[in-house]
Formats: sequence, structure tokens, C-alpha cells
Amino acid sequence: MDSLKLKLRLFSSEPQEFTYRLDGSFFSVAEPIEVRRAVVEVILRARRRDADTVAMEVACSGSLTIPCDRCMGDMVHQVDTTYAFTVSQRGDRYDDNGEGLVTIPATATEIDVEPIVRDTVLLTIPLTHVHDGIREHCDEQMLRVLERHLTDQEPLQAEASAEQEPATDPRWDALKKLKE
Ligand SMILES: [Zn+2]
Repeated sequence: MDSLKLKLRLFSSEPQEFTYRLDGSFFSVAEPIEVRRAVVEVILRARRRDADTVAMEVACSGSLTIPCDRCMGDMVHQVDTTYAFTVSQRGDRYDDNGEGLVTIPATATEIDVEPIVRDTVLLTIPLTHVHDGIREHCDEQMLRVLERHLTDQEPLQAEASAEQEPATDPRWDALKKLKE
């Protein structure tokens, strides 16, 4: 894949377009989100506004394969998003305010849009992501393994709490009374 570092002198008042194709390796540094596979098309549009301001826009479309929160199986997340931002070359250090203004040092000769593109794509993933929100689409075998793991832990908890509980359970007494 081509580098997402762009020479600032490339930009002119004429709109320019750059295209990239991202794969899974692009997101391998994206912890804590595990991106297993990815095919994302990126169109970066840039146009110089004045001597030290460049208007940019990244349009990202494609899909990511990420683990389902419920069954850990592969689930496909569709990406179709656009993020517009302004690059100001008037700063003394790099700063992305997260709201569309990226300031870079006046001495910089290039801008690396890689972190911006990565964040733009990853921010489309909902906090909780499960197979279409429908349990039937989950990996049944994996769910059984996970459930068995959970029930295996219950006897331990029951033993621990039994020791702390009084010898006679009031609910049990009530039941005995009903039977009498
Ligand atoms: Zn699932």
C-alpha cells in the first residue's frame, strides 16, 4: 500500500484526489479492537485554501471483519463514512483537536493522514457489536462452549455462598410449612 504521508507542496487550489486500498494489516496496530480482515477503499480529496491552510476530506467505504462481542466469531462490519477536516500549517507542533482541525508545525514538509484515516474507519464500529443484534446469527458451537464455561464456575460460587448463609434458609422453611 502507498504511504499516507503527503508532501504539503503537492497541494494547490485545484482539487486533488488520491485513492488507497486498505487491508487488515493497516489496522493491526488498532488495539483494543481486533480487526481480522479488511477491505476498505479510501478517497482523499485535498484543496489548498491559502498559503497555509488545506481543506481535506476522506471518504472510506468497504468492510471490516471483527469478532462478535457475544460469540467471538467473525462478523462483517460495513464501512461507509466521510470525514472532512482542515489542515492548518500555522502551529508549532502537531495537534488534532478531533473536531476537524489538524494543526501541524509551520516547518513541516508533509502530513501523515494515516492516523486520521484509521480513526475515521474505526469510529464507525459501535461500542457493542454483535451479529446483526440477533442471537441466531451467532456461532452456536462457540456459544455452547462459552455457556459451559460459565456454568462450570457456578458450583464454586454456590459452595462459597453456602458457607456464609445460615443453616436454615427462610425460603426453605416457608416451603416446608406449605407442605404441612
Ligand atoms: Zn455472534
